[in-house]
Amino acid sequence: MCATFWGRLRRTRRPVAGERVARGRSVSNGHGAVEKRNIAQYIPVWDKDLCIQCGKCVMVCPHAVIRSKVYSSELADKAPATMQWAKPKWKGMEQDHYTLQVAPEDCTGCAVCVEVCPVKSKSDASKKAINMAPQAALREGERENWDYFLGLPEVDRTKVSHGQVKDIQLLQPLFEFSGACAGCGETAYIKLLTQLFGDRLYIANATAARRSTAATCRRRLTARMRRAWTDVGELVV
Ligand code: SF4
Ligand code: SF4
Repeated sequence: MCATFWGRLRRTRRPVAGERVARGRSVSNGHGAVEKRNIAQYIPVWDKDLCIQCGKCVMVCPHAVIRSKVYSSELADKAPATMQWAKPKWKGMEQDHYTLQVAPEDCTGCAVCVEVCPVKSKSDASKKAINMAPQAALREGERENWDYFLGLPEVDRTKVSHGQVKDIQLLQPLFEFSGACAGCGETAYIKLLTQLFGDRLYIANATAARRSTAATCRRRLTARMRRAWTDVGELVV
């Protein structure tokens, strides 16, 4: 079955800019980060004034497309003009800046993040703290914002609780932009595990779909984690 599958894949695949596909039966890790699929017609837009910074939208996104960071005023001064920020709702971080950022070209438009958002506008119940809007008009500005956002420093893992959704949203995901279907209910868990355990996590899986999904993930995965993905076994933390 595998030989047929991979043979068909090789015959039908189209080259993608920046993609590094290895020969044989493997696909290089990390190409999901450079393959901009642009499949969402609508993407989420953050309302910084309504947001309570609960982190639920970050938690449920299957593709690690929506993320948050807390950063200093100096870095905020250099941010693109359209980048949004709010005062962080964490003790001791009040002087910093909090941004909830979407990768516009990696979003699948599933709207799971909007569904889970618990905040509704008092003046318009159809509006939440995050709402879907047409992607085309937002793409360029949000692409610039996303690029700047990626360069912001990651939070110190020792300074946040690993037992609260609100804090976990600030932990860097090592599994991103997977090729899973829009709204996938599985990849959010894998992403969460990488946030909680970082590169100490071992995952192994027997099925081709999970293996190919994993192959699109972050190139910063450790070699041992990459090896584990290709073995047959069970999930080990
Ligand atoms: S619409 Fe879906 S893919 Fe896009 S940020 Fe929200 S949860 Fe993630
Ligand atoms: S789920 Fe809504 S309130 Fe919570 S962080 Fe996301 S946008 Fe803000």
